[in-house]
Amino acid sequence: MIELKNISKTFRSSKKKTIALNQVSLKINQGKIFGIIGKSGAGKSTLIRCVNLLERPDEGEVWVDNVNLLDLSEAKLTLERRKIGMIFQHFNLLSSRTVEDNIALPLELIGTSKREIKSRVDELLHLVGIGDKAKEYPANLSGGQKQRVAIARALASNPTLLLCDEATSALDPATTKSILNLLKEINQKLNLTILLITHEMEVINRICDEVGVIDDGILVEHGSVEDVFTNP
Ligand code: ADP
Ligand code: ADP
Repeated sequence: MIELKNISKTFRSSKKKTIALNQVSLKINQGKIFGIIGKSGAGKSTLIRCVNLLERPDEGEVWVDNVNLLDLSEAKLTLERRKIGMIFQHFNLLSSRTVEDNIALPLELIGTSKREIKSRVDELLHLVGIGDKAKEYPANLSGGQKQRVAIARALASNPTLLLCDEATSALDPATTKSILNLLKEINQKLNLTILLITHEMEVINRICDEVGVIDDGILVEHGSVEDVFTNP
């Protein structure tokens, strides 16, 4: 289970102070897909980055499987972070590496044996449906194929949580649909919890179990998609 408690984050520069997150709390049960929707500048990206501590909240608690990440030493945090995968709008693949070597990267970093990497990468390539692209470079792939590689890379260390930062915003409608279907399939197959941010209602409607609406750093509503978006 994932639980955020009273997360706040303020950005300060010499000229101004921006309250990006103001006491945000939410809970996500294992295996659920939770979508955060809000306008540009609402705080979505800061929120999702606070979950894996790419951004450090000023206050609050980030509980992942009964551990508050903010309590951990750097060494322990590195271990806990393996439980959290992330994908991005612009895929963030390494252009100098082939598809299989991009997917292998997180496993290389934790010292997995070559043999084990090979079998794990094969398994992941098939899971995301690009078994024939192993030796390609990212430049030769479509947007949807690149996102499939990124999903495989994010799943390499067998995370319990997948963070998706506007994962379909750079894709055309048909490709968006196929990537959302893939995320749902993986969610069900692996009982993987997914936290995503989006500015598109379609993403919420198509795959999310629960939704949070963020406005000006405040989580103004959250609940099941039906409860939040069906008017009485
Ligand atoms: P969203 O993802 O919903 O577009 P963000 O989380 O990126 O929103 O931004 C929320 C607010 O925090 C915005 O006003 C943004 O300008 C500000 N902000 C985000 N990151 C930084 C930063 N590193 N430095 C200063 N201000 C920031
Ligand atoms: P960049 O600024 O290009 O993202 P980084 O050093 O942050 O550079 O990342 C190096 C590589 O690792 C990039 O391909 C990036 O997409 C990937 N990466 C960064 N953060 C994460 C994360 N939390 N989960 C998975 N991959 C990540």
